[in-house]
Amino acid sequence: MADIFADNAEAMYDSYGRHLHYLRVSLTDACNLRCIYCMPEDIVFRSQATLLQADEILTLVRVAASLGVDKIRLTGGEPTVRRGVVDLVRGIRTVPGIRRIAMTTNGIRLAELAGPLVAAGLDQVNISIDSLDPTKFRRITRRGDLTDVWRGIEAAETAGLRPLKLNCVVTRGFNDLEVADLARLTLDHPWHVRFIEMMPLGKVADFQQSQVVPSAETRARIEAELGPLTLAPEHDGHDPARPYRLAGALGQLGFISSVTEPFCEGCTRLRLTADGKLRLCLLRDDEVDLLTPLRAGADFAALRRIVAEAAFRKPWGHRLEEHDIAMSREMSQIGG
Ligand code: SAM
Ligand code: SF4
Repeated sequence: MADIFADNAEAMYDSYGRHLHYLRVSLTDACNLRCIYCMPEDIVFRSQATLLQADEILTLVRVAASLGVDKIRLTGGEPTVRRGVVDLVRGIRTVPGIRRIAMTTNGIRLAELAGPLVAAGLDQVNISIDSLDPTKFRRITRRGDLTDVWRGIEAAETAGLRPLKLNCVVTRGFNDLEVADLARLTLDHPWHVRFIEMMPLGKVADFQQSQVVPSAETRARIEAELGPLTLAPEHDGHDPARPYRLAGALGQLGFISSVTEPFCEGCTRLRLTADGKLRLCLLRDDEVDLLTPLRAGADFAALRRIVAEAAFRKPWGHRLEEHDIAMSREMSQIGG
């Protein structure tokens, strides 16, 4: 059998044969919002020194790219609060093999950053927006101003970030009755509005489990108000959101149903936490420390081997049905 961890291997596979070519990189655990489903209100963020520095992130992206990773998504916490985020995008753009750079953001700082980020090489953005009502938006985010998000969405469009994807975590008692209003946005805009089932993780797991709304319920509510949804033909099998359309709509809808309809079989992802751990599955606590060997002077080949060996051990998927909840981190410390 060929040595799958050999220095010249060009693609990473896990023990289930899944091809891992997508790395989500959390730039910081800090955030300018405090969404109820993401973090406890009194969360304390990590000190800057404990986080990966920009050159360390670039080294690890190079290592991943040498193993066949071609897509990077920058996330957080909130990636736009990380100092030097534009330079980081510019740096990642120069890494051979990286074909696509995306970002998931709350959009609050995009009005000023969308243009510079695109100039630096950002290809695509997902913006989180859970409500169209300013009061509900503030209640969910515990501090956000919806106007800032709208300005960010406009700036992203002007900067040419397409397709523009809007993420909405559906939370019972907070925005579950509003999903049709969010879906309606796709009638006049070529946007992808994606409804995410709330996932349980860390200290807020009890709240998350009690307020989760199954995608089937969200879909039914939208259909009751706006008419039947049809499955859109253009489905990328690795995108967790299956695309649907409302009749006559310019945009599309997606439902990310990690809890009720897991899509582990098609998972191509690895995650790098802001403090330098390779997290093998969003909803499992299996992680491999990269920061320590990196700071101890491990060379490129050694890092490559650590990453490839860890990737091979990626667990099949979550174990929520067995009530096995990952407790070591909050969602904001992984990046979704
Ligand atoms: N701050 C950025 C944002 O909000 O878009 C990026 C980080 S955030 C952790 C990434 C995505 O995870 C967002 O779309 C957010 O709504 C989603 N998210 C946060 N907590 C979640 C949870 N418990 N279940 C499902 N999605 C969650
Ligand atoms: Fe911040 Fe994003 Fe978490 Fe909201 S979901 S608290 S914006 S990291």
